[in-house]
Amino acid sequence: MRQSIKSRLSSTILVIVLLTIGIISFLSNILINKQFTNYISKQQELKAQIITSSISQQYSTFTDQWNMDYVHAIGMFSLYEGYIIKVYDKDGMLLWDAQAHDMKLCNQIMDEISERMRIQYPQLNGDFTSVSQPLSQDGNVIGSVSISYFGPFFLNENEFRFIHSLNIILLSVGVLSLVVSLLVGHLLAKRISRPILNTVEVTKQIADGKYEARLEEKSDTDELQLLITSINHLAESLETMEKLRKQLTEDVAHELRTPITILQSYLEAMTEGIWEPSEERLQSCYDEVVRIGTLVKDLESLAKLEKDNLHLNKQEIDLRTIIDQVVSTFEAESMNKKLLITVQGGHTYLMADLSRIKQVVVNLLSNAIKYSEEGCNITVALFENKDNVGFSIQDTGAGIPADELPYIFERFYRADKSRNRMTGGSGIGLTIVKSILHAHGGNITVQSELGQGSTFTVTLPKA
Ligand code: ADP
Repeated sequence: MRQSIKSRLSSTILVIVLLTIGIISFLSNILINKQFTNYISKQQELKAQIITSSISQQYSTFTDQWNMDYVHAIGMFSLYEGYIIKVYDKDGMLLWDAQAHDMKLCNQIMDEISERMRIQYPQLNGDFTSVSQPLSQDGNVIGSVSISYFGPFFLNENEFRFIHSLNIILLSVGVLSLVVSLLVGHLLAKRISRPILNTVEVTKQIADGKYEARLEEKSDTDELQLLITSINHLAESLETMEKLRKQLTEDVAHELRTPITILQSYLEAMTEGIWEPSEERLQSCYDEVVRIGTLVKDLESLAKLEKDNLHLNKQEIDLRTIIDQVVSTFEAESMNKKLLITVQGGHTYLMADLSRIKQVVVNLLSNAIKYSEEGCNITVALFENKDNVGFSIQDTGAGIPADELPYIFERFYRADKSRNRMTGGSGIGLTIVKSILHAHGGNITVQSELGQGSTFTVTLPKA
């Protein structure tokens, strides 16, 4: 059966408290009662002895007489205490008998005691029994006394009151602790369940697409605080992802709009006969189609990269060898633009994904070539320190305006848009570079001055 945390916690606490109170009261009741009745039994024996010795003292050997006034007083006193006595002299003659003295009082006292004991201890099955004891003085038997009292033990009124108050105290303590524990249990359960319920509420909102929802409250329970932090973190990640998704859709639409508008207007003009479909115009249309194709290809590779970046195929690679290989693939292009590419630095090794690092070098070097005019210099310099390796690619080309520098690693960002339309870039190359380097735990920085050239510096951890 499913239950809320609150009711489960409350009921568990209630059961534990009930059990504890039950066990404690059961044990204390048994122990106290046992101790108390033992004590009472002993007291009764003692009392019988005291009665016996007190009566013994009422006999005078000189006069051979009993002080009957005192015997009577002792007898009556004992009667009120629940001891019914009969005193005999040494010849067995009855000297004093409580029942003979006041039958009514005796019966009343006996009934009271029997009634009280039967109610309080129904399982005791007690009754009045008599014990006969010799009366002696200086070792001489001077008579005997028969003491009759409720056995195995009985409680007088004071003792009854004591036991009764004790039971009431125990009961009150039980009831009080029950109430307190119910209250504490309820508060505790509320304190634990409230943040969980709030978390559920916020996760529902997140599931409904309200990614800006956050849990504001703090919990002093470790696990709950962890839950709150994780949910907030999750919401934050989802919010960022949603922003990026929207941004990407906007960017893609924006990037496609220009070539498609151009294509549309050219083709319209040609189909409507306003323009002659000359080779030059068809070439323009073709260029725009190629641009769209490049954009889609770049997007595909970025998507693939972002998907695969979690699985890097790391191996020991030599940066110098990779750079040399990439430089040689750009040989024809650099010769066309009369660019001088020099590579400085020895072999540096690191653990990384070969094809991805190669892609980084390709993108950076192709940019350096793309944005350099004829006769410029490009220098690739390798470096190494204790934990990191890296390289910088410096060109003496166009440079990047200072206010555009912070954005060049963003998707689709192209500095100096009109110029870049001519160079055919889609603004994804540096995004790919950054993504690969981050997946490796590395980073990239850029220094550039408009008209002077740019330096891109890549740093990667060795392991
Ligand atoms: P693109 O495909 O447009 O080259 P990138 O992401 O590789 O896209 O580069 C983003 C922008 O950064 C480029 O459009 C360009 O304006 C600028 N840029 C990148 N590298 C260089 C460089 N070496 N010199 C000057 N500008 C550069």
